[in-house]
Amino acid sequence: MTDSLIAHLAAPGVRRLVPYQPGKPISELQRELGLTAIIKLASNENPLGPSPRALAVIAEHLPRLAEYPDGSGYALKHALARHLAVEPQQITLGNGSNDVLELIARAFLTPDSEAIYAQHAFAVYPLVTCAIGATGRETPVTASFDYDLDAMLRAINARTRVVFLANPNNPTGTYLTAETLRRFLEALPAYVIAVIDEAYLEYASDSEIAPGYASCLPWLADFPNLVVVRTFSKAYGLAGLRIGYAASSPLIADLLNRVRQPFNNNSLALACAEAALDDPAHIAQSVAVNRAGMAQLQTACVTRGWKGLPSAGNFVLLDLQQPAQPIYEKLLQRGVIVRPVANYGLPQHLRVTIGTPEQNQRFIDALDECLRDVR
Ligand code: PMP
Repeated sequence: MTDSLIAHLAAPGVRRLVPYQPGKPISELQRELGLTAIIKLASNENPLGPSPRALAVIAEHLPRLAEYPDGSGYALKHALARHLAVEPQQITLGNGSNDVLELIARAFLTPDSEAIYAQHAFAVYPLVTCAIGATGRETPVTASFDYDLDAMLRAINARTRVVFLANPNNPTGTYLTAETLRRFLEALPAYVIAVIDEAYLEYASDSEIAPGYASCLPWLADFPNLVVVRTFSKAYGLAGLRIGYAASSPLIADLLNRVRQPFNNNSLALACAEAALDDPAHIAQSVAVNRAGMAQLQTACVTRGWKGLPSAGNFVLLDLQQPAQPIYEKLLQRGVIVRPVANYGLPQHLRVTIGTPEQNQRFIDALDECLRDVR
């Protein structure tokens, strides 16, 4: 009785909300199955880890953990501003880019307004929309999982405030060329905030991975309604520290900063992200490892007749053409964690992150065995 009463006290959006399902942590599988040699290719993390420069600054900051972090993020914002050729007032820092996505929802959505995102879009867009109690409109994608931008434009009405679009998208790996994205932004009404999530920018900027791709960040001056969201969790290898950011007009940044917690970034994250920006060689190496791993996985797909979707990120969506959950579980028993994506409406697919050559091979061999098992 009391429990159902309490549940009814929750905001309607919170009651409807389906929580985010993260990749299974290595420690959890260790506890469950007692395995030791586990590899995790489930959360699009960088298999090389962070830049040694980022790691080096951690030691310097440890003696000062009793102090609050710089709530304004002064040093990192200035470093990012130099890196991106924008003003520091255009940057909003988040506790991971998920935090930034939530700030956008809190600043621009209300229970009377609507947000648009595509089918199979990154799960956090519907989540932050629902938590506010706003209405989410999911638009269809094409048969090849590409965005249907006309459908997105058609879904806009007077209540639309935000369009979320990941470029490239997770979990599908599809992307928009700069030219196509620019046309979309030009067609968008000025009252709709365009959130372009570039979490996988560094990988997609590799012309072998995503020809015609470019960041839309240089267009901030052209589109006052544009917010570009990025993260240090992927190519920068700092997912555990939780740090991401948005670049926008100073006005939008001011609005986002109003709803931000005063100390939403911890001091280690601020320091490591700043140091990581200073190591382009680490990013270049990470991108090269990704390119080679993507080729390795694609070759495996061709030789084995597996259906892997072309991807502009550091992961591949595999269409197993059969229920994926049993295969996922068999992979777990072999110490290989990948990501089931039934919650994305893709019950026959698995998403696998590109790892080191050895990790990729271990996944390929394990999947081979699992598929043989179920036959
Ligand atoms: N956007 C996309 C498209 C992602 O795939 C992810 C990570 N799964 C994020 C944002 C959030 O990453 P983080 O909060 O670690 O920055």
